[in-house]
Amino acid sequence: MSNLVRPLVSALDPYVPGEQPRIPGLIKLNTNENPYPPSPRVLESVRKAVDGRLRLYPDPTCGKLREALARMHGCEADQILVGNGSDELLAMAVRAFVEPARPGGRGGAETMVQSFTPSYSLYPALAAIHGAVFRPVPLEPDFSFPAPGGRKGPKGWNGAAALTFVTTPNAPTGCGYSRVELDRLCRRHSGVVVLDEAYVDFAEEDAMELALKHPHVLVMRTFSKAYSLCAQRIGYVVGHSRLIDALNRLRDSYNVNGLGQVAALATLKNLGYYRRNFGRVKKTRSFLTRELVGLGFEVFPSQTNFILVRPPGPPAERWLLELRKRKILVRWFRSSAISGFLRISIGTDLEARRLVEASRGILDQG
Ligand SMILES: *Cc1c(COP(=O)(O)O)cnc(C)c1O
Repeated sequence: MSNLVRPLVSALDPYVPGEQPRIPGLIKLNTNENPYPPSPRVLESVRKAVDGRLRLYPDPTCGKLREALARMHGCEADQILVGNGSDELLAMAVRAFVEPARPGGRGGAETMVQSFTPSYSLYPALAAIHGAVFRPVPLEPDFSFPAPGGRKGPKGWNGAAALTFVTTPNAPTGCGYSRVELDRLCRRHSGVVVLDEAYVDFAEEDAMELALKHPHVLVMRTFSKAYSLCAQRIGYVVGHSRLIDALNRLRDSYNVNGLGQVAALATLKNLGYYRRNFGRVKKTRSFLTRELVGLGFEVFPSQTNFILVRPPGPPAERWLLELRKRKILVRWFRSSAISGFLRISIGTDLEARRLVEASRGILDQG
């Protein structure tokens, strides 16, 4: 049996997504979903689209959605590609821009996928699937951007890597980066740079203009986190039409489902509703930060809808289990660089208060 499967596939260490348990009453703060539902108008548009038309294929190119997004970002529709979540687009970028390495993992910069670490743990998995070489570049101990370094960029950085992923603001650290420092980094690159802005709506700045001004920079966005549409799987990428065309060549014919397109279009017509929610999330983020710091947690400043914390007392993995006993689910990463931390998604105010109470209970029990 074993030789039916490619050795590369047998040896893969697959990406592990956060759990989606169905436990009644669970306070779910482990996968950065938005605590607020989509706008009632978005739900209404999706409901209205559920009829006999489901027998038809959806628009293969997401024409209307791309036009609406192009108007929003002040670019052309051929500078945008929509994906089945931005995860699909990240995988497509690896396939479009990176050469697989020769057996044994040898190869030059053309085979290299690079990102800071810790960062989104899907990137190394995507590189491995493609047979590319993954190059992790450590962040500073406080998870800030490494010092820019000389002409070549930060230490350990390869400006010629075929593809570089920068999560901005970063996950799982929550750290935000300025447009100016991202611009500086992009200018040091000859390969493609993807700025993964999955959490940008909770941040102070975005870097969309870099995708519109540099021919080698792509910005990715998703409707999952800020726009409460994880289930619908809609992400998009913006950049130079030559790079977008390259991605388009390897896109599956009907990669984006029809109801997702309807939901995303309706979302763009109701942005006011979402902007109010961003404000609420940021307020709860400040509240939770203050309260946890009061209990002795180290909390890293966040520009996202989650916080990375170092809990006091018992090890982080114990905290995960103790909170779980109290029906609160957060995220713990086994990876050594961050195994002392928990990542906590920002929920509602009530959920934040319940988390603080539970944490107090765990500390009292010792
Ligand atoms: C959640 C997330 C994504 C993927 O979002 P989709 O649901 O696939 O659109 C991409 N990048 C980062 C850093 C994320 O956290």
